[in-house]
Order: sequence, then C-alpha cells, then structure tokens
Amino acid sequence: MKIEVIASGSAGNCYKLSNEDTTLLIECGIPYLKIQEKLNFKLSDIDACFISHEHKDHSRDYKKLLDFGTKVYMTEGTKATLDPRDYRIEILEREDQEFYKDFKIGSFKIKPFKTIHDAKEPVGFLIKDLISKESLVFITDSKYCKYKFSVDYMLLEVNYTARAINQNPNLNPRLRKRIKETHMSLETAIDFILKSDLKRLKMIYLIHLSENNSEENYIKESIQKLTGVPVYVC
Ligand SMILES: [Zn+2]
Ligand SMILES: [Zn+2]
Repeated sequence: MKIEVIASGSAGNCYKLSNEDTTLLIECGIPYLKIQEKLNFKLSDIDACFISHEHKDHSRDYKKLLDFGTKVYMTEGTKATLDPRDYRIEILEREDQEFYKDFKIGSFKIKPFKTIHDAKEPVGFLIKDLISKESLVFITDSKYCKYKFSVDYMLLEVNYTARAINQNPNLNPRLRKRIKETHMSLETAIDFILKSDLKRLKMIYLIHLSENNSEENYIKESIQKLTGVPVYVC
C-alpha cells in the first residue's frame, strides 16, 4: 500500500492511502481546493473518505466531498454533531462498545475502533490491503490506545512531550490540561508501541505534532531507537 501525507497537525489533517485498484482518504480537514491540488484534480480517484471525529482539523470540507459524490464515512455520533440530517453521510456500524463491524471498500478492509478524545464518538482505523496483505493502523487525537496491533505501518499521533508541555510558559493551564486529557504524548505513544507486536512493522508516521509542545528531533530519535524502523515525522 502507498501512504501519502497531504496535511498533518492542528491546522488540518488529510492522508491518502492507495493500492493498484483502490484509493482512500483519511480525514478532510483542509480546504477542498488544497485537497484537489494535492490530488492533481483527480478527486474521482477517491473511493471513500473516512473521518475520525468532528473537529474541524479533521472534517472541515467533508460536505464538498459529498457534493462531488465521494462516499464519506463517520460514526453516528460524529454525524450527529456535524449534520444529523445529511442523508448522504455513510455511517460506521457498531459491533460492540469498542469496535465497529469491518467492511470492504475495493481491496481494502477497514475496522474502526474507539479512541479517547473530547469528541462525541471518535474512532481510529485498522486497514488491511487485501492484495499485498499489508496493514496499517491510524490513531490520532486520542489520550491513549489500549488495543494491541500487529501491522506493517503505523500512523500515530505524538502531540507533545511531557517535558515540553510542562515547561512551556506561554501555555494556559486550562489548555495544558485539555491537551493532556485528549491527545497522545510521546510517553504514551512509547507505551502503545511497546505493547504492540512489532514483527511486521516497516515504518512509523508520526502525525498531529503540536507546533509548540513537541520536540521533533527528540521524538523521532526516541521512536526510531525503540522500534528500529524508519520514522517519518509529518
Ligand atoms: Zn486534531
Ligand atoms: Zn480533535
């Protein structure tokens, strides 16, 4: 599978995932025109777009994708906060309290799972390429992740480091508290990676880094040392 980072961070997120016959977008949190530019105006290549939760940096121009005719998937809760009456939105079907039913789009199989964030019903995605048999886990805007995965690629939020967020004198205490309760730190990402099965792991993409509370090189080196695979900071 091919992974392309179109945008990452609190200003907007959009990721493209493709193989020889299917192309998916995860998030559409940047202006529609920018998405079109990045796709060389071939939006018709997109088979579906998945949205993790309602915050603007993840959902911004989903209506324009719907207008274009792209299938957009989200949870019932995300839909309820964005527009409960838009019948065009595709709903992710629940399996139980934590997982959703898996389903296929072209030659990708998608399994959404619950994440921990100040949104109505946020999710992450486990995606398997049925042609190459490779798999990917996408986790963003989550305080932690209690599930274990064995995947080829991780797209994992590392929003901040404990020392950077605690020492940033310009950060208002309420915001500091919110970030800690709703986003993933380097320390928590390391815990998640340590409990994962890393046998298949080929590469890690670190996403949604905070501009002010992260230390890019330190984060990259820590994760690289831990996993021994290439780490790409988006
Ligand atoms: Zn976000
Ligand atoms: Zn969010």
